[in-house]
Amino acid sequence: MHIGLIDADSHHFPNLALMKLSAWHKARGDTVEWWSGFSQYDRVYISKVFDETYSPDILEPVNTREIIKGGTGYGLDNRLPDEVEHVYPDYSLYPKLTKETAYGFLTRGCPRACSFCIVAEKEGRASKKVADLSEWWYGQKYIKLLDPNLLACPEHMDLLGKLADSGAWVDFTQGLDVRLTNARNVELIRCIRTKNIHFAWDNPAQDLTEHFQQFKDLSGIKDYRKLGVYVLTNYGDGETPEEKLENALRRINTLRDLGYSPYVMIYDKPHAPRAIRLVQRWCNNRLVFGAEPDFYKFDPKRG
Ligand code: SF4
Repeated sequence: MHIGLIDADSHHFPNLALMKLSAWHKARGDTVEWWSGFSQYDRVYISKVFDETYSPDILEPVNTREIIKGGTGYGLDNRLPDEVEHVYPDYSLYPKLTKETAYGFLTRGCPRACSFCIVAEKEGRASKKVADLSEWWYGQKYIKLLDPNLLACPEHMDLLGKLADSGAWVDFTQGLDVRLTNARNVELIRCIRTKNIHFAWDNPAQDLTEHFQQFKDLSGIKDYRKLGVYVLTNYGDGETPEEKLENALRRINTLRDLGYSPYVMIYDKPHAPRAIRLVQRWCNNRLVFGAEPDFYKFDPKRG
C-alpha cells in the first residue's frame, strides 16, 4: 500500500500516533510518506490533536482511495488499535524534533476528571500502566514523558525507578500531581535526571499550600527556576472579575513565597478581564516578576 500522512497541527511537536502508524505500515512493507498533492495514495491518515480554536480543519485530499481521521481534534472516541499502539515509533518522520529524544506514555488516564480537561473522558478515570519504558526508549539521551498523571498509577514507584535507572534526562511534559507526592516517591523523583519539574494549581477553591510546602521540604530543591507551577485563571462562570483576580493573585503569591515559579494560563483568553491579562503579563515575564513582587505596583507600560 502507498500511505500518506497529514499532521493537521503545527509541526512543533511530533505526532506520536502518526509515528506509530508509519512504523506499523513500514513493517508490513508499505511505503509511507508525508502527503503530497502530486502522488496517488491507497490510504491517507489525517491526525489532529487540537480543536478548531488552535488547529483549523483542513480540506480532505482527493488523491486517495481512503481517508482515516484520528486524534482528539476529531473527537474522543477514536484510538489506535492495540497492535499499532505498542510499536516502536518511526522517529524518521520528525528528525529534528526527535533527535536523541524518545516520546511516549507509560500510563494513560487520570482519576481527577477536572471539568476543563478531556483526559478522564478519553482515557478513563484511573491512571493505568500501558507500557514499559523499554517498549519505546532505546537509549536516547532525552525522554519526553506524555503521561497525564503518572503518580496516580498504582505502579508508579516501579515506573519512576525505571526512569531513574535510564540515566536519561526526563521531561514530565504534563507535569506531576503535587497532591500525590510523598516521602517515598519524592526520593525516587530526585534520582531522576530532570532540568525542572512542574505542577499545576488549577482550581482556586482547593488549597494546595501544604502539598507544595511538603514537596519543597522533601525534595530539598532550592532553585525556584527548577520548580514551575501552571496557574489556570478565568475558569468558572460563578466568579466576578474581582474574584478571578483575587484567586489568581492568592495562588501566585503563595507559590512565589514557597519558592516556586508560577506561570499563568488564561482560560478563554479573548473574553478574559483585562486585569487577568495584565496578571499574566506581570507574572510570566521573569524579569518583571522578579523586580516587582506587587502586582498593584506593576506598570504595564514598562512590562
Ligand atoms: S489532574 Fe490533570 S490530567 Fe487529570 S483531569 Fe485534571 S487537568 Fe486532566
